[in-house]
Amino acid sequence: VFQLSLPLNFLGSVYREMNQAVIDMDTLFGLERLRPAIADAPDARPLQLNGGSIRFDGVSFGYVTDRPILRNLSFEIPPGARAAFVGPSGCGKSTILRLIFRFYDPANGTIEIDGQRIDKLELESLRRAIGVVPQDMPLFNTSIYDNILYGRTTAAPDDVYAAAQQADIHATIQRWPQGYDTQVGERGLMISGGEKQRISLARALLKRPPIMFFDEGTSALDVSTEHAILGNIRQVLNKEKCTAIFIAHRLRTIMDVDIIFVLKDGQVVEQGSHSQLLLMNGVYRSMWNMQEEQSASAHDEVEQALPG
Ligand code: ATP
Repeated sequence: VFQLSLPLNFLGSVYREMNQAVIDMDTLFGLERLRPAIADAPDARPLQLNGGSIRFDGVSFGYVTDRPILRNLSFEIPPGARAAFVGPSGCGKSTILRLIFRFYDPANGTIEIDGQRIDKLELESLRRAIGVVPQDMPLFNTSIYDNILYGRTTAAPDDVYAAAQQADIHATIQRWPQGYDTQVGERGLMISGGEKQRISLARALLKRPPIMFFDEGTSALDVSTEHAILGNIRQVLNKEKCTAIFIAHRLRTIMDVDIIFVLKDGQVVEQGSHSQLLLMNGVYRSMWNMQEEQSASAHDEVEQALPG
């Protein structure tokens, strides 16, 4: 069952220190041992899915005792909703995801999926229900085929190809001389950021989880790649009934979601749709204004740099 816990490692504390794009399985298992022990409760039961709703009730958490990251945090994501978390860097967006995966347990409060406390669930059933598409996806030193297959190791080849097609990477892979047998280590840096994200999207799609996270990450893809990928994700999501949660830095990428949660000092300070949040004239509004001004001035710089 080791493959089920793989995506988790990418979100762990050590992930941030690992800036290399290609990692070895050995390294990964080394990391596994560094995690705090989280185990099934003696009477743990499998998750009974019913639409994939998520609820945080009074959750407090810090990685170290004197530094709380989440403070009495409460929110609810309805089943099948498109939701997003936004807020300043370091405010705890990825931490929420790690807690839902039960990478850590909160100090206080409860987390429920479809009305079931996650600390009462069989870990394996919990983690199987959640897929993650990180932007900076470290690929394994193995074939492209296997990299996608990790989403669901029992999948048939046709399922792997179908997932790649859905993620719009199938044709690209087929153009490579070794196709799906291409070894990641050999190509290494020749796989672009956009291709990597499509591979991780294919991996997540193969898993077909009822809850999907899209972690935008901090490193910016170029605008057209980002647009293409987001287009893919939207298209794929329209056909899936899953709950989709975006961890976003650029507000423009999440304008159309059903509900946006604005985090500050470990709490949700505002929530609503993009237009509702703009009307509130609060934290979201000022974040939005700032990002719009930045992109306008970046645009001006490009204009000025152009000849004539
Ligand atoms: P970003 O927008 O930059 O991705 P974020 O909102 O996702 O940030 P988190 O990754 O959730 O923020 O981190 C919240 C805080 O917890 C940060 O201050 C971070 O430095 C700290 N932190 C994260 N992981 C650990 C860890 N394993 N040990 C100690 N502190 C940690």
